[in-house]
Amino acid sequence: MLVVQKYGGSSVADAERIFNVAGRIAECYDQGNDVVVVLSAQGDTTDDLIAKAAEIDPNASKREMDMLLSTGEQQSVALMAMALNKMGYAAVSLNAMQVGISTTSEYSNAKIKLISRGRIEQELERKNIVIVTGFQGINKYEDITTLGRGGSDTSAVAIAAALRADKCEIYTDVNGVYTADPRVVKDARKIDEISYSEMAELASLGAKVLHTRSVEIAQKYNVELVVRSSLTREEGTVIKGENSVEKILVSGVASDKDVARVTIEGIDDKPGKAFEVFALFDKKKISVDIIIQSIGRGGTNDISFTIEKSSLKNVIQLLEEYKEKLGAKKITFDDKIAKVSIVGAGMATHSGVASLMFEALYDAGVNIKMISTSEIKISVLIDEKDEESALIAIHDKFQLAMQSLRQN
Ligand code: ADP
Ligand code: ASP
Ligand code: MG
Repeated sequence: MLVVQKYGGSSVADAERIFNVAGRIAECYDQGNDVVVVLSAQGDTTDDLIAKAAEIDPNASKREMDMLLSTGEQQSVALMAMALNKMGYAAVSLNAMQVGISTTSEYSNAKIKLISRGRIEQELERKNIVIVTGFQGINKYEDITTLGRGGSDTSAVAIAAALRADKCEIYTDVNGVYTADPRVVKDARKIDEISYSEMAELASLGAKVLHTRSVEIAQKYNVELVVRSSLTREEGTVIKGENSVEKILVSGVASDKDVARVTIEGIDDKPGKAFEVFALFDKKKISVDIIIQSIGRGGTNDISFTIEKSSLKNVIQLLEEYKEKLGAKKITFDDKIAKVSIVGAGMATHSGVASLMFEALYDAGVNIKMISTSEIKISVLIDEKDEESALIAIHDKFQLAMQSLRQN
């Protein structure tokens, strides 16, 4: 079998952890498998590198940031190959240039376009264990790019897809995917199986256990993923096609603090105004999430929408420039907010999920600022300070509701 394993930063944080992981890799190799391993940077290395750059220039170019951040992964792959060599195993570390991981040119948020199989296959034929840097790629200018925070998961899944691997295992610091972040919601439960689309929603709504793109690529190329712990032997969570997974009312709860709300007040109530605003953002590649337009009064409207916090400065600046042209009276914003969401494939056929969620928030005394729904998710915008209590209240409510559903 050909197995791709990915180990996250905390799994390789120090020498002891590296030897622990090397032991697990060796075990897989000893079972007769070809093994390709993808690694993240050790522990907090990426954050430390970002802090280091900020000491020089908080607005450093993204190209140079990628050049710097990619060094974290290069350290861990070399250290892992050394550990395996020391244990008597043939192992070789490779970076994105050596493998041939081509990406789009967008620094700090590049997408993988193509992965060459040649070098990895050559090394496997030589019976080497192959250790590849996660998170990084090479663009058409032969510059190093990175795939966005948490992107090593995506490197692993893309490599598994390119090599048509039999298995892709993501090793992390929790026992699998839980019904909520187990560090925040103490009685969150481990999920045995979840569909690609539910997992992709959970990830994009803030469950950082998997990088969203990794799940999308897994779905596209039908790579069955397993998320499990590098520190225990517990079975993890399997992520696979919709048809083979039971449709559960609510699979999980997630939250995201990386949101800001912007309101354009007193826009003329005329056709084309919303188009003008959002065409502007589209041109600047600013992605907008929830959008609400209020009912017009006295010939004017308010439009509110959410964006990532990192776009806020840019968006306010743009809107102030265009305010007059849009016929808007005032631009306001709020960046002390959080988005809390529930995800479940069973929602599409069960009514009452939204009202249960709102009841939980009411019980917890949390005010809702905005609501957005789709077939398999409901999101609400709330005050940042209420994030944790909202998560716990919503999680509790659905645990109870699902228990009683099971009993009936
Ligand atoms: P790694 O370094 O292994 O990539 P991450 O820190 O990126 O690990 O992701 C694992 C973390 O994701 C866990 O420690 C946990 O706190 C967090 N997390 C958030 N939501 C969930 C969830 N629904 N299930 C499991 N973990 C979650
Ligand atoms: N080291 C990178 C990060 O911290 C990539 C990853 O860990 O997946 O974001
Ligand atoms: Mg991660």
